[in-house]
Amino acid sequence: MTLLLVEDDDILGFALQKALTKSGYTVFHALDGNSARQLWQQQMPELVLLDLGLPHRDGLSLLEQMRQQEGMSTPVIILTARDGLEDRVSGLDRGADDYLVKPFAIDELLARIRALLRRTVPTKARLQFAALVWDAETRTAFIREEILTLTPREALVLESMLTSPRRSVSKERLITLFNSWDRNPGINAVEVTVFRLRRKLAEHGILIETVRSFGYALKVLDDAKIP
Ligand code: CA
Repeated sequence: MTLLLVEDDDILGFALQKALTKSGYTVFHALDGNSARQLWQQQMPELVLLDLGLPHRDGLSLLEQMRQQEGMSTPVIILTARDGLEDRVSGLDRGADDYLVKPFAIDELLARIRALLRRTVPTKARLQFAALVWDAETRTAFIREEILTLTPREALVLESMLTSPRRSVSKERLITLFNSWDRNPGINAVEVTVFRLRRKLAEHGILIETVRSFGYALKVLDDAKIP
């Protein structure tokens, strides 16, 4: 699961990032409204944690833009020091799904994230591509009901492609995702992982195509049977 954390207080932001990463989330951290917008568009996170008082642009105006102009339905939890009723109401009015008033306990934040994801991502629980089924909850791949054994990196690559509308992923994004585990794993780690995953999928009629100067895309072999 990928989260976007928008928090300009770097001490709080890095502490949250650490705790969330420890809980198994892949976290992108934006320190201001403009980079939040960019990461939101590029990384398509499953959930956004949004502080309201931000440099460059306010969290509420960012939320309004993402919802109304960019059509993003990503679930959003507002994190705010402002505990005024007005802020909460306008946050919810502009499309936030939940809010948490600072200071809060990390356990409460984790519980709210889980609850919101349960509410909002049921349709993504099982993704299908040709003979391949991906169970998002357990992060397990199946081919015709049988588990396809994957390393954590292979699972991450496959998940990234399956959850993207075009069934593709850029090399750049894979490096960023790998980075949340290892420091500087490099392009080589990505290529080796894709090579191995490609071999595992090929025997089931699914191809990973290399898309020049972008990355990779899933394709079905012409003669593969699509259930
Ligand atoms: Ca702030």
